[in-house]
Amino acid sequence: CGIVGYIGTREAYPIIIEGLKRLEYRGYDSAGIALFDGTDLKVSKTKGKVSDLEERAQKEITKHGNIGIGHTRWATHGVPNDVNSHPHLSNSGDLVIIHNGIIENYESLKQELISRGFTFKSDTDTEVLINLIEDVKNQENVKLGKAVQIALNQVVGAYAIAVFDKTKPEEIVIARLGSPLAVGVGEDEFFIASDASPFLEYTKNAIYLEDEEMAIIRFHKGIKVRKIKDDSIVPAYVQELQM
Ligand code: GLU
Repeated sequence: CGIVGYIGTREAYPIIIEGLKRLEYRGYDSAGIALFDGTDLKVSKTKGKVSDLEERAQKEITKHGNIGIGHTRWATHGVPNDVNSHPHLSNSGDLVIIHNGIIENYESLKQELISRGFTFKSDTDTEVLINLIEDVKNQENVKLGKAVQIALNQVVGAYAIAVFDKTKPEEIVIARLGSPLAVGVGEDEFFIASDASPFLEYTKNAIYLEDEEMAIIRFHKGIKVRKIKDDSIVPAYVQELQM
């Protein structure tokens, strides 16, 4: 299972696909990608290999866009199939998530969301999390970063996640607890990945999130790292990677 994301000035698609291939060693059963093409969100996902995803994306989506996230899934909740593959959208279709890990209390969160009118397409714990984030965002009238933080404080489990909002396509929010997550810092661009291998050819500057940290990454504006629990700001420590 693996996570790759990009926000910047380059085409995100090849960076994400090549990145997912570099993370193949981690093992997976499905793969998917979400790209914002300047107008709308394009999602392509499939059971199978990253090469199957490429074949499918070729037919399904325009592969242009400067912000995107990609995923290889190792199914824990819901069988490996196309619908259960990531990325997952929120009910409004605005928010999109990729997730490695397990949301242990997803069943009770799901029941609560269903009672509030949410519907679910997949059997995954992940689709519960993105709708919880949407619910919090609407109920509390907060920005995406804050909504992710409040939602994660209601979650029991382990995760590395990346989320963005297609109505605000200059920002990606990421968080980790128990699954690795690294951010490559380029010039006016950021790379997100489970390890540095997807972005080593573009930048040697990396920030590794610690457990219980989240980051808000904004195009042109930089990265802010925070604690998930208490909102305190963590100085972003940029480390220079060796070859
Ligand atoms: N629990 C999620 C699922 O089953 C994520 C699995 C993963 O780590 O890839 O869809």
